Amino acid sequence: MVLMRSVIVAGNWKMNSTPADAAALAAEIAAATNVAGVERVICPPFVCLASVGTVLAGSGVAVGAQNVHAEVAGAFTGEVSAAMLAGLVSWCIVGHSERRRDQAETDELVARKLVRCAEHGLRPILCVGEQLAEREAGRAEDTVRGQLERTAAELRRHGAGFPSDLVVAYEPVWAIGTGLTARGTDAAAMAHEIRQSLGREGAGINPESIPVLYGGSVTSAAIGEFLAEPSIDGALVGGASLKPDEMAGIVAHAGLVGAARMAGEAGT
Ligand code: PEP
Repeated sequence: MVLMRSVIVAGNWKMNSTPADAAALAAEIAAATNVAGVERVICPPFVCLASVGTVLAGSGVAVGAQNVHAEVAGAFTGEVSAAMLAGLVSWCIVGHSERRRDQAETDELVARKLVRCAEHGLRPILCVGEQLAEREAGRAEDTVRGQLERTAAELRRHGAGFPSDLVVAYEPVWAIGTGLTARGTDAAAMAHEIRQSLGREGAGINPESIPVLYGGSVTSAAIGEFLAEPSIDGALVGGASLKPDEMAGIVAHAGLVGAARMAGEAGT
């Protein structure tokens, strides 16, 4: 039987918006993207989670965090634990390349964040991706395979594995916030590599059931190339996720794919 993975569009607002304006922006995006067959997620800054959560209640748009601390609790000034997020969000981005770059997050740390997410029922979006030099050297797949292998090894040290509700976002670092995008075919090749790695490392999960998103300068004009690939299940959107019109265009594309997948499923 062919597995039908859901189509997901997640918006990462990064360090943008304020508690005063986030709710109105989220409501505008929810109204502009009300399309069947697409799971929508908005990930605002921590301080906006409560107001965004309130305005999105009942809208069908889920709320996610952009990060979580790797420890359960303790003397970690300024940090936010999974227990604090539970109830406010149902999703959480882990291992975003901006955190790997700016906070020196390692795959081992990212793995412990996955453990924390699992403890509190937060669905993780695990970000992986290569630097430009790695792609130019023909090592993009090796890089992502290495990220997943090191993450899996640390998960095993904690008696855990990749969670069955995992979502992986393939985000080439050179494409994030640059206006450059990967090719749809390269993203599809990477999705294949990601599922191969999960098949080897992800004891107990079916890699074909794991959604793989593309992220990196996604816009309503660029999304079509990625969604044309059956192995790509949606997008993690940064800059364009702050623009309701852009999100409307991206989710409209995704809705066509979601409808086609549902029609395919009904026909099997
Ligand atoms: C991101 O933040 O994950 C991202 C892909 O950003 P952008 O769409 O702005 O490149």
